[in-house]
Amino acid sequence: MTKVKVATDWLAGCAGCHMSLLDIDERIVKLLEAVEFTSSPVTDLKHPPKEGVTVGILEGAICNSHNVEVAKQMRERCQILIAIGDCATFGGIPAMRNMCGTQEALNRAYLEAESVVNGIIPDSPELGKPLDMVTGVGEVVKVDLFIPGCPPRANAFWYALTELLAGRTPVILPRELFTYD
Ligand code: SF4
Repeated sequence: MTKVKVATDWLAGCAGCHMSLLDIDERIVKLLEAVEFTSSPVTDLKHPPKEGVTVGILEGAICNSHNVEVAKQMRERCQILIAIGDCATFGGIPAMRNMCGTQEALNRAYLEAESVVNGIIPDSPELGKPLDMVTGVGEVVKVDLFIPGCPPRANAFWYALTELLAGRTPVILPRELFTYD
């Protein structure tokens, strides 16, 4: 059986959404019978393959220019893009930065915090340039499915992925979002 290729990546997030995906526990064995995870932040391969995947999954908000590049690359290389978690859906916790502004948040974190000694604001091309506004993924690329929650319940991931594998469009209902395993 040809397996469905899935790639995941994260933007400005805490990794909690990926951990919740792993919380499907033993069901992951069944999932792996039908799915090949080509790349993810926790595998050796970090970027979705050039030849593309069927499903792309993104965690985290859009905070900087690097996040924009990662989101665009995933969008270009996947057929169905899923934004997982509140950060990817509407900005979530990182979007709290919008209330004071990017520069003020950077000053507070790296220069003014009580624990800082000889602080410096990080500035490296590898980090990307901070954006003025933190947003969800849908503000920069087309998203086909949002799975909100902080993090989304494992049942929501299981439901969405198995519906897609069955060729159906998932409709995320409260039952899937709020039921604990
Ligand atoms: S939605 Fe919650 S768990 Fe997911 S990356 Fe954001 S803060 Fe972390």
